[in-house]
Amino acid sequence: MSVAIAADPTACRDTSGLLPVLGRDVTVPLVTGGEVTYAALDYAASAPALQRVWDDVAAYAPYYGSVHRGAGYLSQLSTELFENARRTVAGFLGCRAEDQVVFTRSTTDSLNLLARALPAGCQVFVFETEHHASLLPWRDARVTCLDAPRTPRQAVETLERALADRDCGGPALVCVTGASNVTGELWPVRQLAAAAHAHGARIVLDAAQLAPHHPVDVTDLDVDWVAFSGHKLYAPFGCGVLAGRADWLRAAEPYLAGGGASRSVTRSSEGTVDVEWHENAARHEAGSPNVIGAHSIASACKALTETGWDTLVAREQHLIRTVSEGLAQIPEVRILSLFGDDAPRVGVISFVVAGWSSAHLAAALSAEYGIGVRDGLFCAHPLVRTLLGGDPQTPGGCGAPAAASGGKSLNAIRVSFGAGT
Ligand code: PLP
Repeated sequence: MSVAIAADPTACRDTSGLLPVLGRDVTVPLVTGGEVTYAALDYAASAPALQRVWDDVAAYAPYYGSVHRGAGYLSQLSTELFENARRTVAGFLGCRAEDQVVFTRSTTDSLNLLARALPAGCQVFVFETEHHASLLPWRDARVTCLDAPRTPRQAVETLERALADRDCGGPALVCVTGASNVTGELWPVRQLAAAAHAHGARIVLDAAQLAPHHPVDVTDLDVDWVAFSGHKLYAPFGCGVLAGRADWLRAAEPYLAGGGASRSVTRSSEGTVDVEWHENAARHEAGSPNVIGAHSIASACKALTETGWDTLVAREQHLIRTVSEGLAQIPEVRILSLFGDDAPRVGVISFVVAGWSSAHLAAALSAEYGIGVRDGLFCAHPLVRTLLGGDPQTPGGCGAPAAASGGKSLNAIRVSFGAGT
């Protein structure tokens, strides 16, 4: 049975029962006739934008104007909205007074921007367990890839050892995720930050999966930068954030060259074009900025803060218990974890089912039960291979046949949800 997703967003409706609690349920027509209530449990990929966010965007629509580019009322209003969004995000992240908040396209974009801003000779340390967005942007630097730890303590010890062994004196950066997009497990960010700083390194937190589920306070965690994506934080696609220390960002060449990043451009008598770049966040925001994206992120930040993290975390922990207990009743299911089944996690749970191809199971869940999950290696190939008992160094993409791994499943299933809706 195949399912056609409704194009009409008014088809969304609330119903009671387990599936709607876990994910925003959507009524979708079946191509064979009739309709089914569909639960989209793939929040880790993209969470449904909050109604409050859509309402805030709609309220702004009549006043739409260019940002930083006009004296007219609408332009002034848009500029104010954009800069207010920056302040809201800074507050949401507990930024220090001197920090910069740069609007980017996504977490991937934020980390690539930081990678371009690394000082010369910077050494980068990443665990092999990272999402590719945090594993890959540093390829022009000297990268040390650290083994997957089996406890949070081991993560700190592994990092400490690696930093102690590094060439001293030069700049160094540690990039670490706050919550895994595969296991949902929380990483010991505060301790990793302390270890990094004790060895003269800086640290960037990939909060793509943490920020939608937990408060992230840059000052309290003592991280130098944080990156996250709007579309995982209940805002629409297309906008992300890099927030943190200004010095490396200010010293770097602009991420994109163009209007908005430049304060003054002159043509010299020798025929060259000379540029004075901005030193604030605008330096890395060349071109017309995504004001709707920034406004949406700010709206989502406000909505989460107003609901309150205690309420959100308690609701989500209830959902995690419900799903984990349900899965534990199925003997064929093995939940994937690095730190143990009882390790604290966000609403991201991956598993394999003995005797089943994850791809077939995911297709069946969608077509026959109206449950949308993700299957594959979740853009964290080395980690999933390690968790499935394979070799993290063996290549093979999502969907590679099990025969290629001696009959072992190469893929897993992931269900993910959040309490923000
Ligand atoms: N980091 C983590 C932990 C993620 O889960 C993801 C996306 O799934 C990313 C980074 C990349 O986010 P984006 O695709 O929005 O750039």
